[in-house]
Amino acid sequence: MTRGLQLTLLGLLASALQPRQAQCWWGNGHMIVARIAYDILEKDIRDKADSVLSHLMPFTTLEDQHPFVECATFADEIKGRGWNDQANLHYIDQPFFDQGFMIQVAPESENVTWAIDMIVANMNRKNLEMESGVSWDLSDSYHLRMLIHYIGDIHQPLHASSRYTKDYPMGDEGGNAVKLRVNASDEVTNLHALWDSVVTAQVDDMTLPLSESNWEKLGNISSRLRSEHPQSIVENNFNLDPNMWADESFQIVKEEIYSDFFDGEDSVFSPSQDYIDRSKLIAERQIAKAGYRLAQVLSNIWSSHQNKSSPLDSESHQDLTHESSKISPKFLQE
Ligand SMILES: [Zn+2]
Repeated sequence: MTRGLQLTLLGLLASALQPRQAQCWWGNGHMIVARIAYDILEKDIRDKADSVLSHLMPFTTLEDQHPFVECATFADEIKGRGWNDQANLHYIDQPFFDQGFMIQVAPESENVTWAIDMIVANMNRKNLEMESGVSWDLSDSYHLRMLIHYIGDIHQPLHASSRYTKDYPMGDEGGNAVKLRVNASDEVTNLHALWDSVVTAQVDDMTLPLSESNWEKLGNISSRLRSEHPQSIVENNFNLDPNMWADESFQIVKEEIYSDFFDGEDSVFSPSQDYIDRSKLIAERQIAKAGYRLAQVLSNIWSSHQNKSSPLDSESHQDLTHESSKISPKFLQE
């Protein structure tokens, strides 16, 4: 990032982040992902993350004592305030052709997998020219916020697909177009929102900055999810390719999410309690996976940096999955 771009970013932030209550939909889900990652990270990586985040904290009133978790909704917050040039980086619409329906769909060039790859490469200083004397503080601070959020997004299965049928020839927008009636909540009115709310487990977003009681509440949820869905659920320990994560989400969409749906899709669908219970389990498992993977991505970036003599040292240009760059986070300590 050039100095000029940093200044532009500062200007955008100053205008975009005015005080207001956090109303990010799916905010709790994102914060649980971040809390799981934060709880299992080694202290030196946690400290590094807090230090990196501090550079943009003066521009937001939504972060205070727990910025790593509080910033998990930053990407949605700025999107909601008109910072739209990253709006399409929250998802990847892999087409799910169902009920024998087929149509030509143009692939997206920029999406959530592209964004995660770009951010990790950027934070690793890959493929970037280094200008001597230029600080990366603001760039890293911005990208870390987006990374925490996007890794959450890609594990929400409906952020990885759009379903095409004769009733939805243009796609169902990741379930946004599928109307629902859910007994547990008036706010959950479509299929996408159902999954955004962790299938009704998290319908009331916490106010930001977090109160200590909400911080504790998130800690308890993190402990429970790490106990119910331990590290061993992350297959290929650790495959950190976001394309694999998107494929995994896509499989859930194809096999689970529309499993209870019936022919009359134009009518309002009322999911059964069995569907809610089964889906809640899947959603929470996805959140645990996202937390584990976020922790590992950050460990890889910063533990390899700490061993570098120079950011451009060719030895440091390791793949994300390179064994020697890994630190084992402290899983299941609580
Ligand atoms: Zn998002």
